[in-house]
Amino acid sequence: MAVLVVGSIAFDALETPYGRVDRTLGGAATYFALAASFFTPVKLVGVVGDDFRERDRAILLGRRIDLRGLVRAPGKTFFWAGRYTDHLNERITLRTELNVFADFNPKLPPAYCACPYVFLANIQPTLQLAVLQQMRRRPRLVALDTMNYWIERTPEELRRTLREIDVLVINDSEARQLAGEHNLLRAATQIFRMGPRTLVVKRGEYGALLMRPDSMFAVPAFPLEQVCDPTGAGDSFAGGFIGYLASVNRINEATLRRAMVYGSVLGSFVVERFGLERLRTLTRTEIHARARQFLRLTRFRL
Ligand code: AMP
Repeated sequence: MAVLVVGSIAFDALETPYGRVDRTLGGAATYFALAASFFTPVKLVGVVGDDFRERDRAILLGRRIDLRGLVRAPGKTFFWAGRYTDHLNERITLRTELNVFADFNPKLPPAYCACPYVFLANIQPTLQLAVLQQMRRRPRLVALDTMNYWIERTPEELRRTLREIDVLVINDSEARQLAGEHNLLRAATQIFRMGPRTLVVKRGEYGALLMRPDSMFAVPAFPLEQVCDPTGAGDSFAGGFIGYLASVNRINEATLRRAMVYGSVLGSFVVERFGLERLRTLTRTEIHARARQFLRLTRFRL
C-alpha cells in the first residue's frame, strides 16, 4: 500500500565534529520518502524553489516515489542550517529561511486522495489538518510529527489536529513538553487523551519506545562506532516505521513492533554519513541484514 508524505524539502547546511557541508538536499519529507521507498510506494507533497535542479530531483527519481505532488514555486527552496555539539546530542539551529515554504499550502493531486497510509511531517498543524481534509476517505493510518515550535506557538491548532490522527511520532523532550509532564509514562497517558492511541517516542542514542494504552515496546538504537551526522534520523525512523506497516498493510502488536525495528534500522543507517548520502547507496539486503542484527542484539532467555 502507498504512503503519502507531506513536509519540508530543504537545502541544509550541516556542521558536526566530523565535518561540514554547505548545501545538501534535505528536509523531513525527503528523508521520510527515501527511507519509506525501500518498503512501499511513496507519494510526496512538498514545495521547492527555482534553485532546485535536475540533479536534486534525480536523488528522488528511479525509486518508488511519486513526484506529481512536488510543486515548484518562484523563489528559493527552504534553507536550514544546523550545528551539532561535541557528542552530537545537542542540535543548534543556526538559520531557518522559509523562502517558498512560507506560502506552502499543500494541494493533493487527485491520485493521492485515497492513499491508505499518511505521514504528516513537521509543518504547521493547520496545514497538517488541511491535508487530511482533502482525503476522499479516512486513511487506515495517519501518523504525525511535530516540534517544540508548534507546541509553544500554536497549541490550540495542534490539539485540534491531534484529535484526527492515530500515531504521534515525536522526541522524548517534545512528548514531555506537549503533555506538560516530565515522567514519560504519565506524559503518554495525557497524550492518549488528546487523540493518538499509539505513541512513538524517539530517544536518540537511547532508541525508541512504542507506547499504547495497554502495551509498551522498547527498541535500542543500533550501536555504531561512528555517528557522523544525526540529521534526518527522526524522519528516516518514521519512514522505516510507516513504510514497513504500509508494506504489510496490517496493524497489530506484532507488526508495530517489527516496524519499530525497521524504523531504528533506517535511523541507524542515515547517521553513518552526512545528509542523505547513506540512504542513496543503501540496499534492501543491507536493511534486512541489520534487522537480523537487531534480533541478535536483543534476544535473551529467562
Ligand atoms: P530530523 O529528522 O528531525 O533530523 O529532521 C531534519 C530535517 O528537518 C532537515 O533536513 C531540515 O531541513 C528539516 N527542518 C529543520 N527545521 C525545520 C522546520 N522548522 N520545519 C520543517 N522542516 C525543518
